Amino acid sequence: MRRFPALLPTLPLLFAASLLWPAAHATSASPASKARGPGHPLADIQGSDPCREFVARLPNVKAPVCAAARLKPTVGRSVQGRTLYQRDVVAPEARIRVLVVGAMHGDELSSASVALHWIQLALQTPSNAHWRFIPALNPDGLMVRPAKRVNANGVDLNRNFPTPNWRRDAKVYWEDRTRKDPRRWPGPRPLSEPESQYLYDEMERFQPDLIVSIHAPYGVLDFDGPSVPPARLGRLYLDQVGIFPGSLGNFGGVHKGMPVVTIELPSAFRTPLDAEMRQMWLDLLRWMSERIVPEPPDPLVVPVKARKATS
Ligand SMILES: [Zn+2]
Repeated sequence: MRRFPALLPTLPLLFAASLLWPAAHATSASPASKARGPGHPLADIQGSDPCREFVARLPNVKAPVCAAARLKPTVGRSVQGRTLYQRDVVAPEARIRVLVVGAMHGDELSSASVALHWIQLALQTPSNAHWRFIPALNPDGLMVRPAKRVNANGVDLNRNFPTPNWRRDAKVYWEDRTRKDPRRWPGPRPLSEPESQYLYDEMERFQPDLIVSIHAPYGVLDFDGPSVPPARLGRLYLDQVGIFPGSLGNFGGVHKGMPVVTIELPSAFRTPLDAEMRQMWLDLLRWMSERIVPEPPDPLVVPVKARKATS
């Protein structure tokens, strides 16, 4: 069954606002960075300290918040060669695995900020989870001025996951439903992009019991997959908008059986207040404790090897 929902309203004011952002921290390749990354002009531009860029770019992320997140470089790279960072926080009695992803859409800056703030909360609040945070899946879209939803190849990463019948449905959806909106181009083939391939591989490696994907600015919750969805997180209420070909919720929740909570923050450029971010976190923990049941350990289970997409 395919449900193609009506397109969410565009918000021209947001795009206008994004044009007003200062260009002082533009990250075009400098001669020095070119020397560091043959083939990738921006390779290692962040070096071992992604916080320089994040603090300059993200709303409500001061240096101590980013430093305390202690992000670790991964093997993942963006199209332009930026390192993808992650952070694991493992509760002593961890029984479930939760993957939290921010800034899959680069112009949803607040989503990366919330992921960084939640790393602090994961360190401070007891849970039963092994958390894996990827605060910025689309760093090229996040850092370019103005920020872009799509990655540096112009692909909407949230339409690039290998849902069944992707070739037919993603094309039909993009051409007919979005009228070839360049902000929603699903790409030439599933997992054509290094960022979506990285997240796919991470899902295979980590085998999360739950994925939390943070977006903006529609101010609702969405949910795909088995289990009963959370009714609310803080002031965000469940409003299941539908299923898109190639989306993470469709791929993970519907086809892989990994529940995906999609959070749509109310603003792409401002985070909720600290107290509100904390309430959302506590509501998430409460719902997890009720609805995400850890699987009993099974020594016969062999982890599934990461598969490359075939074209
Ligand atoms: Zn989004």
